[in-house]
Amino acid sequence: RAKAKGSGYYQVYNKSISRQLSEEMVIEKYLYDATANEAFALEYQPFVDMKTGEIVETEALIRWYHPEKGFIPPSQFIPLAEKTGLIIPIGNWVLWEACRQNKVWQDKGYKPITMSINISALQFAREDFIEVVKATLKEVGLAPQYVALEITEGIAMENIEENIVKLRQLKELGVKISIDDFGTGFSSLSYFARFPIDSLKIDRSFIQNITNSRQSQTIVATIISMGRALGIENIAEGVETKEQLAFIKGESCHKAQGYLFSKPINPEDFEKLLSENKRYE
Ligand code: C2E
Ligand code: MG
Ligand code: MG
Ligand code: MG
Repeated sequence: RAKAKGSGYYQVYNKSISRQLSEEMVIEKYLYDATANEAFALEYQPFVDMKTGEIVETEALIRWYHPEKGFIPPSQFIPLAEKTGLIIPIGNWVLWEACRQNKVWQDKGYKPITMSINISALQFAREDFIEVVKATLKEVGLAPQYVALEITEGIAMENIEENIVKLRQLKELGVKISIDDFGTGFSSLSYFARFPIDSLKIDRSFIQNITNSRQSQTIVATIISMGRALGIENIAEGVETKEQLAFIKGESCHKAQGYLFSKPINPEDFEKLLSENKRYE
C-alpha cells in the first residue's frame, strides 16, 4: 500500500513537472513570435544624483505584455531568451530602442542624461559586440558618453584578459561601463581592480537590509569606500525608504535608484519628469 501511495505521489509530482515544462515550451514559442515582431517595450527608471536631487541617468528595462498571457516579467523570459539564443536579437533591439529614445529626448532640448542598458553576458561575449554598439550609436546619432552598459561581475571570473581588452575597446569608443548587482557575484577583487569600470551598482539585497543589519551596513559602506578609492562611481539600487536614503547619503554614495524616487515608468511618463526638471529631496 505504502508503495502504491509512494508511486501516486511520484505521479503527481511528475505531472506538475511536465506541466511546467510544457508551459515553458509555450512561452518559448511566444518568445520567438515576440522577437520576430519586436513585440517588446521599454520602461525607464531614474537614477538620482545624491548631491543635487536631479535625474542624471535612467535604466531601460524590458517589458513584455503577451495578448493572452498578460505581463511576463523579465526574470521569467530573459533566462529563456538566453537559453534559446533569442537574447541576441532581443538585446540588439533594446540597445537600439534605448539609444533612439535618449536621442529623441536630447533633440527635444531636455537636459541630457545617461541611458543605462542591461547587457547579457552572452551579448558581451559575442565577437561583434563592439561593432554592434558602434553601429547602433552611429545609426541613431547618439553621442557615446550618454550610454552606460550594465554588465555583471561574471566578466571578472572567466576569460579575464580577453574581457579587459574588450572593456578597453568600449571605453575607447566612449561608452560607460557599470557593474550591475555588485556584491553578489564572488568576483576576485584583485582582478576586478584591473577592469576599466565607471560605476558599481550596489545590489538591492544589501540596501534592503541596511536598516536592520549591521552586516549590510558594513558591506554597503565598504563597497562605497572601495569605489571611491578606485575612482569608481557608486550607485545604490532599490532604495525604498528614507532611512535607506539617509544611510547611503551619509556614506557619500553618488547616485541612487529605487521605488522611493520612482518605479520604472513608460516613456511618456518619464518624459514628463524630464520636462518638469524633476528634483527629489
Ligand atoms: P536589474 O538590471 O538589476 O534591474 C533592476 C530591477 O530592480 C528591475 O526589475 C527594477 O524594476 C527593480 N527595482 C528597482 N528599484 C526597486 C525597488 O526600490 N524595489 C524593488 N523591489 N525593486 C526595484 P525588472 O524590471 O523586473 O528587471 C529584473 C531584471 O531583469 C533586471 O535586473 C535585469 O537583470 C533583467 N533585465 C531587465 N531588462 C533587461 C534587458 O533589456 N536586457 C537584459 N539582458 N536583462 C534585462
Ligand atoms: Mg540593471
Ligand atoms: Mg541591478
Ligand atoms: Mg538586480
